[in-house]
Amino acid sequence: MNKTFRLRILSTSDIHGAVLAKDYADNSETDYGLSRVSNVIKQYRNESTILMDIGDDLQGSPLMYFHQLNRNKYLNPMTKAFNYLKYDYFIPGNHDFNYGLDYLVDFVNSINSKTLCSNIYKNDKSLLFNNPYEIIEYKNGPKVAIIGLTTQYIPNWENPSYIKDIIFENAFESLKKTVEELKEKADVIIVAYHGGFEKDLETDEAYVVDTGENLGSRIVNNINEIDVLITAHQHRHIAVEKNGVSLIQAGAKGSYVAKIDVNLVYKDRWIIENKSQELINTADFPCDGMMYETIKEVEDDCQAFLDKKIGNVVLDNLEVKDMFLARLNKHPIVTFINQVQLKYSKAMISATSLPNEVTGFSKDITVRNVLSTYIYANTLSVLEVNGKVLRKILEKNAEYFICEDNEIKVNPRFYYPKLQHYNYDMFDGIEYVIDIDKEFGKRIVNLKYQDKDVLDSDIFTLVVNNYRASGGGDFDEYKNLKVIRALPFDIAELIIDYIIAHRDLKIENYNNIKIISKKC
Ligand SMILES: [Zn+2]
Repeated sequence: MNKTFRLRILSTSDIHGAVLAKDYADNSETDYGLSRVSNVIKQYRNESTILMDIGDDLQGSPLMYFHQLNRNKYLNPMTKAFNYLKYDYFIPGNHDFNYGLDYLVDFVNSINSKTLCSNIYKNDKSLLFNNPYEIIEYKNGPKVAIIGLTTQYIPNWENPSYIKDIIFENAFESLKKTVEELKEKADVIIVAYHGGFEKDLETDEAYVVDTGENLGSRIVNNINEIDVLITAHQHRHIAVEKNGVSLIQAGAKGSYVAKIDVNLVYKDRWIIENKSQELINTADFPCDGMMYETIKEVEDDCQAFLDKKIGNVVLDNLEVKDMFLARLNKHPIVTFINQVQLKYSKAMISATSLPNEVTGFSKDITVRNVLSTYIYANTLSVLEVNGKVLRKILEKNAEYFICEDNEIKVNPRFYYPKLQHYNYDMFDGIEYVIDIDKEFGKRIVNLKYQDKDVLDSDIFTLVVNNYRASGGGDFDEYKNLKVIRALPFDIAELIIDYIIAHRDLKIENYNNIKIISKKC
C-alpha cells in the first residue's frame, strides 16, 4: 500500500471588519461575518488543515473605525477574532494599510498567526514583514510551501505618508523568483495572493484595464509549478481549476470560506493524486456566540459611540431609500458630502460618489448614520484641473447611465465583473446636463461654473478622495493632475466634525446635474 496524505486549506479574505454578523446601520443580523466563519472552521478543520486569511481585514466596518480612533484603549477586535479562530497565516491586503503602517504592524505583532508577504520591502531591501513564505514539513507527509503575495498597486491608493520608504515589487515577477527558489524544496506550492484576476478565466479576455492591480491570470498562465492559487481583493466567488491549478476567491466579509483539499500519494516522492476546490456559504451556519464575548468591551463601547446624537436634518430628507434614484436624481446627501469637502478643502469644485449601498441620515443624526453613509477610510486631495480635462472626467462619469429598451439603466460595466457603483462621481460647484442619447464622450452639455460656460482653458481646484485622486476606478485623467494639497483627515471624521459644528443641516442647490433622454 502506498502512503497517502490529505491536506486541507481553509481560507478567508476581505473581511473588512465584519467580526460579528451584524449590520451596524441598524444592528440587524447579517448572513456573513467571522462569527459564522467560526462554525465553518469548527466543522471542517482537522489536524492537517491550514487556516489562512488573505487580507483587507482592518478597515471597512464601524467597529474598526471606532477601534482605530481608540487604538490605545482596546486590543484590536480583529486580533481577538484571529486569535480566537487560531488562524495559521495572514497575508496583508491594501486596505490593511489604511490606518497607517503602525496600526498594521501592531496588528501583525498582536496576532498568533504568521504574516507572510514576499513582495513588500523596506528601502534597505529587507522584507517589511519578516516571512516571505513558509514550508511546512509534515511528519510522514509532504512538504507544503505557502507563499504570501500582495497587490503591488497600493501606492496608487494609499496616503503617501503611510507607505513612505516602502517598495512594492511586481507580484508576478516576485512570485516567479520565489517559485524558482522553492520548486525543488516543496511537494505542494500554494500561493496566497491579495489580488485577483485581470482576465476572464474562461476566455482569457481582459475585462479590466491591466494596470498590474490584479495579476492572477498572468500567474496561472505562466508559472507552471503552482498547485493552488488563493486570490482575494475583487470580492468575487471563484472555485475552478485552470491549467491544473486550483483557483479560488471567497467573496467578502466572511460570506464564504474557501476550502481546498489536496490528496497526495507517496511514490518515491509525494505527488498530488487529486484535488478539489469549493466555496462554503457561511449563511448556512449559525453564529458563534463566543465571538461577541471575545470582543465585548470594544463592541459595547462602539455601540454607545454610534448612537450619540450629533445633529439634526432640517428641510430636506437625507435618508436614502433607492440607490438607483439616488444617483439618477442626485440625492441631497451627495451635495451634503460635497459641501463638507468644499468647506474643509476650500476648493472650487467637489466630486463624490455613493457606496454601492447606503442608508443616509435620519432626522436625528448619529455617528452611526455618518459611518453607514461614508463607509470608506478615505482622505481628501485638492487637484488643479483645466476645463478640458474636467470635461473628460465628466464624460467618463456620464457613461454610468445608458438607455436600453426605452428605459434608463446602469451601464453593466459598473456591476460586472465587480459591483462598483462607487465609481460614478457626482459633482457640485458646477452645473451640467448628461444627454444619454448621445454616444460616450459627447454626453456632457451645458457645463457651467457660476453661470458661465466652462472653457477648455479655465483653471479650477477640484477636491476628490485620495482613491480617486490616484486614478482609482481607472480614472487615469486624475493621475496627471497637479496636487495642490492633501488633507490627512478621514472624510467620515470631517463629516462628523461638520455636523457637530453646524448641528442643523440645510442642503441647498442640489439640482445641478440633469440627466436627459428623448428615447428613455
Ligand atoms: Zn484589496
